[in-house]
Amino acid sequence: MLKDKFLRHHDYLRVSITDKCNLRCRYCMPPDGVEFMSHDEILKNEEFVRFINIMVRMGVKKVRFTGGEPLVRRDFQNIISETHRLHPGVELCLTTNGVILDEHIDLLKEHGVTKINISMDTLSRQRFMELTGRDSFEAVKSNLEKVLATGFFDVKVNAVLLKNTLDELKDFLDYFQDRDATLRFIERMPVTAEDAFNEFIPSDRLIELLSGFGELKSVKADDHGVAMRYDMTYNGKKIRLGIIPPMTHKFCANCNRLRITSDGHLKTCLHSVRQYDLKTPARNGASDEEIMEIISKAVKEKWDGHKMECSGDNGGCRAIHSEIKSMSSVGG
Ligand code: SAM
Ligand code: SF4
Repeated sequence: MLKDKFLRHHDYLRVSITDKCNLRCRYCMPPDGVEFMSHDEILKNEEFVRFINIMVRMGVKKVRFTGGEPLVRRDFQNIISETHRLHPGVELCLTTNGVILDEHIDLLKEHGVTKINISMDTLSRQRFMELTGRDSFEAVKSNLEKVLATGFFDVKVNAVLLKNTLDELKDFLDYFQDRDATLRFIERMPVTAEDAFNEFIPSDRLIELLSGFGELKSVKADDHGVAMRYDMTYNGKKIRLGIIPPMTHKFCANCNRLRITSDGHLKTCLHSVRQYDLKTPARNGASDEEIMEIISKAVKEKWDGHKMECSGDNGGCRAIHSEIKSMSSVGG
């Protein structure tokens, strides 16, 4: 039902439950900030649950809650618990900046979340502050350790690949060598201006530098080819690495993702401005079948892939052109 004209089957839904955030990451939001949406524009819990329910009926098997920062939505647990109650077989995942994760670990476990991605771009408190505008590094690190201590969740740590990341590779490897988490580096997508902080680094450069620290063995990934997975041997220990290269090794041909924005639009591609309003018809009384028709049509119209490009300067690559202006508004 969720097959597009390129025969891609969509069974993964990312739901942005808020556009608000308690950090201001420079690669995600423009420096002068973004205008947040009003309370009325944002979907209510029952609207999120209804759209997720419809999408599950259409074939979605995995739902990721994201944002903005999903945990700052006051009553977010109700969306997750209701989704789990209605669809216990659907895989539930969360992407968070980790700042207030400790307050929610037990409930997330209880409500069926099994996979948690935590964003941590640096291991330096100072750099964290410069990058995110907030002094929250110690909180994020301590919350990551609390989540790992449960031994319950599949944990991935996401770091956006920036020039400074390359200075910290040894610190990252030292920290992750003893931890049961996958360390993933994501090529920076050009949603905010490139500046001294946001300089684009191609993943091949990262791989080259990582290879200087230990052996990298390529392993099969389980996420539709989004991450290139490696098992790294470092100091005699194994570290699970993921490298996500949307710019230099486009993976659109395998895309299985759909997105619902916090104000109730369906997006078939993160990087397209094209979106389909589900909220207005739903608020005007549309039936589930009518909403399904809008979704099916949107999926049929999905383009072949994003139009971001790399140009030849900057030692080989510079990411240019994205249609979206902040990642926080669409959920990454
Ligand atoms: N606030 C949560 C967080 O930071 O994890 C969830 C939302 S955030 C938009 C989701 C993911 O998008 C994060 O892993 C973040 O690092 C990533 N992201 C944001 N801006 C990005 C960019 N310009 N390029 C690549 N990844 C980006
Ligand atoms: Fe907030 Fe996440 Fe964007 Fe950082 S990446 S500003 S934590 S939404």
